[in-house]
Amino acid sequence: MDAEQLRESAHRMVDFIADYYKSIESFPVLSQVEPGYLRKLLPDSAPDHPESLQQVLEDVQAKILPGVTHWQSPNYFAYYPSNSSIAGFMGEMLSAGLNIVGFSWITSPAATELEIIVLDWLAKLLNLPDDFLSTGPGGGVIQGTASEAVLVVLLAARDKFLSRIGKSSLDKLVVYSSDQTHSALQKACQIGGIYPENCRVLKTDASTNYALSPDLLNEVISQDISTGLVPFLLCATVGTTSSTAVDPLPALATVAKRNGMWFHIDAAYAGSACICPEYRPYIDGVEEADSFNMNAHKWFLTNFDCSALWIKDRKALIQALSTNPEFLKNKASQANMVVDYRDWQIPLGRRFRSLKLWMVLRLYGVQNLQQYIRNHIELARQFEDLVIQDPRFEVVTPRIFSLVCFRLLSPDNDGDKGNKLNRDLLDTVNSTGKIFISHTVSSLGYIHLTLCSWGSIDRRETC
Ligand code: PLP
Repeated sequence: MDAEQLRESAHRMVDFIADYYKSIESFPVLSQVEPGYLRKLLPDSAPDHPESLQQVLEDVQAKILPGVTHWQSPNYFAYYPSNSSIAGFMGEMLSAGLNIVGFSWITSPAATELEIIVLDWLAKLLNLPDDFLSTGPGGGVIQGTASEAVLVVLLAARDKFLSRIGKSSLDKLVVYSSDQTHSALQKACQIGGIYPENCRVLKTDASTNYALSPDLLNEVISQDISTGLVPFLLCATVGTTSSTAVDPLPALATVAKRNGMWFHIDAAYAGSACICPEYRPYIDGVEEADSFNMNAHKWFLTNFDCSALWIKDRKALIQALSTNPEFLKNKASQANMVVDYRDWQIPLGRRFRSLKLWMVLRLYGVQNLQQYIRNHIELARQFEDLVIQDPRFEVVTPRIFSLVCFRLLSPDNDGDKGNKLNRDLLDTVNSTGKIFISHTVSSLGYIHLTLCSWGSIDRRETC
């Protein structure tokens, strides 16, 4: 790469992106294009000869941006906090600039070692048990997504069990979760070969604020054991996607322990809040977990993708995922002196993702990060108050973090009419392009809307 050419082009690209951020509110936050719009605007084949950056940027402006949903817009309130940050962005830039592929320690020792250090920092910030630190038999690893995290955990747990009860017993392994658990677990079960009839999705309701009931879990496990099945994985969630339910970790941990199961905690969204001492109690019980996951790309200012996974027994992961081809052999790995993260994940290649997390931690500092979380939660509280004060609406489940679940009440309490009303409201609001919110359907079959508050740390202003 020609360094001067890079300097000139990259400066222009940074200018383009900075201008985009400056004008981000002028775009409809939810893209309003029709499916297939882009094929009509771009040629059928790649150009034979080089085009200029200017031409490409003009196309980005005219053809690509209309098809972008502006996740970083202050008017974006859907799914979960969609935060990038200057620190996270620069970490990404640096990672792209170095462009290493750090699958083994030897392929870039700094990439592996920084990841270990930064995940230890974050584990300490979350006050995770020492067993999750790299200094013991466990450790942390950055996965791309929470879906990958739960998949590798499931594979580790599966193989641990099968090595004990025999490979032919795959049909006996049972997974437990609630009906609020993210579909990532279902996908992991599909990939991991868990029999669909052995995936227990336990019902929740408003009486527990949609948290998984340990009594019900106990009951179902007992039934399964009595028919010769083997409970092997319990997935609890702190901050479920549709209801921000917090499963009762200590009681669930007791059930998991009594039955010798692997206990995984998915705190993909809400885990970030637990860097504040006042929210840390929501993950009390993590001491008994075998693995814990939070997405720094959701609510920790780290540009996508960065999903932090900690595991107590790294050997289980490595046993399930390692291969040892000749071309990857090297002295450090053979001597067992180093961590080779390729054995902790599905792909071989991996990006230098710890740079952006390191930058976020260093350029903002813990106190600012805590303040940033508190600010979002306060904004959500204010929005929740507005909903409570308006007799046309109800708050569906008590707000805990920065997500508010609410719905328009049906005038005559008719479920179908209420659903139509809420769907119409959602479509109307989102089609304005002024804000973007998302929706879900509760276990009772009612549609509700979900609004997740957030704000920029860099601009020191809130949305
Ligand atoms: N778990 C929870 C609780 C989530 O909220 C989400 C995403 O919204 C996921 C898992 C899946 O996240 P990812 O896109 O990182 O796989």
